[in-house]
Amino acid sequence: MPPTCPPSNAHPSRSKSVCRLYCRYCHNNVCSRGMRALLLADNRIELFSTDMPPMLRIQLVGMDYTTRSCRCKIRNVACLGCGNEIGYHITQPCSECLKACNNGHFWMFLTESVYPVDLKDQKNSALMMWANIPQEYDLDECVAYGCRDTICR
Ligand SMILES: [Zn+2]
Ligand SMILES: [Zn+2]
Repeated sequence: MPPTCPPSNAHPSRSKSVCRLYCRYCHNNVCSRGMRALLLADNRIELFSTDMPPMLRIQLVGMDYTTRSCRCKIRNVACLGCGNEIGYHITQPCSECLKACNNGHFWMFLTESVYPVDLKDQKNSALMMWANIPQEYDLDECVAYGCRDTICR
């Protein structure tokens, strides 16, 4: 049973690096803009979060459920490459969690199920930070079409 609650880093996220996430079981690229996070309910638990998952590569499975930590409704997320459960989605955040953190990251990936690859900024080959990616930025498409700096902004 996964822990609930969105990550606790509501605002520092802009200074965090962006990473792609890959399924440990089949190496499917399950997220193109992930962020390292600590769980709000338990700061010892590290996971990855995102605001925008690629729905072609993952799928919600089963029914909504709640855990003991709060009243968030969550549903498990499976990798479409292999079918393993690799994280969960908060389908309906509870009021406490919404108050504590409103960074819009309601998709979590478990560290035991996915591994990260840090993204580099193509201009200066430094790590790409969340502050540097525009809203609605789809890294997959932009890399494929070479449209950084033009269409994406
Ligand atoms: Zn909650
Ligand atoms: Zn997989």
